[in-house]
Amino acid sequence: MEMNFTNRKYLNMKRKIYLFGCLLGASMAFGQQTHDHEKCGADTYYEQQVEQNPEILQRAAQFEQDYQTYKVTFNQNQQKAPQKFIIPVVFHVFHIGGSENISWQQCQDQIDTLNRAFNGPKFERTREIFWGVAADCEIEFRLATLDPNGNCTDGVVRIYDPETENATDNIKLKSAWPTNRYFNIWVVKDINRAFQSFGTVLGYAQFPWSGGAQSDGVVIRYDNVGSIGPAANPVVGVPQWGSTLVHEAGHWLGLYHPFQDSCFGGDQVEDTPPVQAPNFGCNHSINSCSNDNPDLPDMVENYMDYANGSCMGAFTIGQKARMHGTLINWRQKLWQESNLIATGTADPYMAAACAPKAYFYATETNICETGGINFKNNSYNANGAMTYEWLFPGASPATSNASNPTGVTYGTEGEYDVTLIATNSKGSDTFTRKMYVKVNGNTGQFGAGLTEGFEFPVFPINNWTVSSTSGINFARISTGEGSIGGGYAAYVQNSGIEAGARFYLETPTVDISGVSAPVLSFYYASAQRRTTGGGSTSDALGIYSSSDCGKTWQQRSTIPGNQLSTTGGSPYVAVNFFPAGPHHWKKVDVNLNAIPAGQRNNIRFRFDFRSNGGHNFFIDNVNIGFSTGIEQLASENNFSVYPNPSAGQTNIRVNMPDAQNTKLEVLDMFGKTVSVLSEGASTAGEQTFTFTPNTDLSSGMYVVRLTVDGQSFTRKLMLIQGQ
Ligand SMILES: [Zn+2]
Repeated sequence: MEMNFTNRKYLNMKRKIYLFGCLLGASMAFGQQTHDHEKCGADTYYEQQVEQNPEILQRAAQFEQDYQTYKVTFNQNQQKAPQKFIIPVVFHVFHIGGSENISWQQCQDQIDTLNRAFNGPKFERTREIFWGVAADCEIEFRLATLDPNGNCTDGVVRIYDPETENATDNIKLKSAWPTNRYFNIWVVKDINRAFQSFGTVLGYAQFPWSGGAQSDGVVIRYDNVGSIGPAANPVVGVPQWGSTLVHEAGHWLGLYHPFQDSCFGGDQVEDTPPVQAPNFGCNHSINSCSNDNPDLPDMVENYMDYANGSCMGAFTIGQKARMHGTLINWRQKLWQESNLIATGTADPYMAAACAPKAYFYATETNICETGGINFKNNSYNANGAMTYEWLFPGASPATSNASNPTGVTYGTEGEYDVTLIATNSKGSDTFTRKMYVKVNGNTGQFGAGLTEGFEFPVFPINNWTVSSTSGINFARISTGEGSIGGGYAAYVQNSGIEAGARFYLETPTVDISGVSAPVLSFYYASAQRRTTGGGSTSDALGIYSSSDCGKTWQQRSTIPGNQLSTTGGSPYVAVNFFPAGPHHWKKVDVNLNAIPAGQRNNIRFRFDFRSNGGHNFFIDNVNIGFSTGIEQLASENNFSVYPNPSAGQTNIRVNMPDAQNTKLEVLDMFGKTVSVLSEGASTAGEQTFTFTPNTDLSSGMYVVRLTVDGQSFTRKLMLIQGQ
């Protein structure tokens, strides 16, 4: 239905954003009680986009203006399209080798469903009362048969990527075809939790006027694509008969939900009855709004409501007009004859028969010298038989013709390329992953007592590694006055990161087999952003160990979100959390006694920070091996450097615990030892050492390092040499 249009959508959207909790909470509560899924995340996605870029609201107003103008033409033409609109489609299937790697047939089945909904008369599953408004939308979807470079494609791209789980918009950056020429559909295992205001989101679309070209399209769960394969028996909810993508394509073509802003808001379409709140199931007797005349029941068969797929069967003529307006004013290039020819979707249209795209992956690529790797062929784009030629330089076997070679072993530490050549009757394709296999030595790179305070400008240093499911990683940062020993720490700039991202910081391998009661200790700083509804109450830190060069990981400890804060638990209001001093740091000792004796000579540790949209997260002073008792040296009271900055002779005061082997040295910022002040057995108690710099040392930052029983403590020293 349509209210008098005077920038109403603009005003509604503004109101909705600023009163988000109240309005959305109220309208969604209806579904919350009985439903485990939320059909669509388009509204939540739109609100996020507008929050980031309020100028979208002006474009929304422009869109409505264009639509009002177009509507006049549409009516004059007796509601007939100037032509049938043909839309080229590409699916990007993100998978980890499971059933989410859906078949080409399932994608084609979805195309067939789209065309039953958008292209043909509409009386199926539609009550007679709505036959007068049910529309043949005259829009046809076709799988592309030519890719952006003019190469043969079957319209489905496949990418092995763990980001298919809890997927965010980040996947769109990894695989997308020009969004003004193709309708891009990203298929994932499941969708980011941030969209789940009351259940599992099945899909989300970008409106024609919102967001950028890069994010334009639809993200959808694999078990909601079409109606066959996994979609016949989805993980959540009932089979949706391919209606989820029909619904999202409606948003992508400019349609709102009929329950948009409840009875008095409206979807800006005249012939859809007003709806109070999403309708689930298939309730034909519901009439949630009576402010329409004549007072019609809710049109639960409308694709833009939330009813079950088996209940849906129609778009209205008004919705058709709005979608045609979108295609003519906002998505013009897509359906032009020249683009249909370029994408291989013009008449006479035929399914493609292409040469393969060679592609493969392995679930474990980080192994010990004694390990073996199983490779998975995932070549695509070709129907029918393919042959394979694998090249494994440095491995045994060095070549293979198997489709999925197993037990490929490497004898020597190093990094190795892997190549696959896939061939069918149409041609062949070569795919190489550079330095894909990392083979690690069979004994620890470092002895017990490895410490890292992230003081040196190389990061990650000494075989430490970082990785993440996001675009950013753990990084090194100056913590200045807020430091806990030394002046730097490792951190995740978590403010502004999408919820669900995971950040890994991994140590080198260590031999702790000679230590009777080994301990991993470290300091961290973290703050909570909000008390409820996300924020770092749901961030978490896991600590894992691997004794097989990273092939498998065992959890050693975990700090859940409600215990993670080091600022006292109450939400931290500043924009960016930054530790203000030692009181913002917490020390953690992870007892490693549970690690079997035989697995201690080549062990590495992983810090696994899981973001749920909380604040920045810091780690410092990691120690692997010995139990503590000397950690008091982390405190300024027990280990200090003065004066600092220093223009000449510098004093280093150490309150030594009960320890034997010590080394006190001064290093430059590249880790080169400048002076050793003390080395060997030491006695307990307070001692003062002096450092008199050679005149050839330049002014600048130096590090004073005290190593006791293999554990290191550092202090920064600012040296000012003679003027
Ligand atoms: Zn929707």
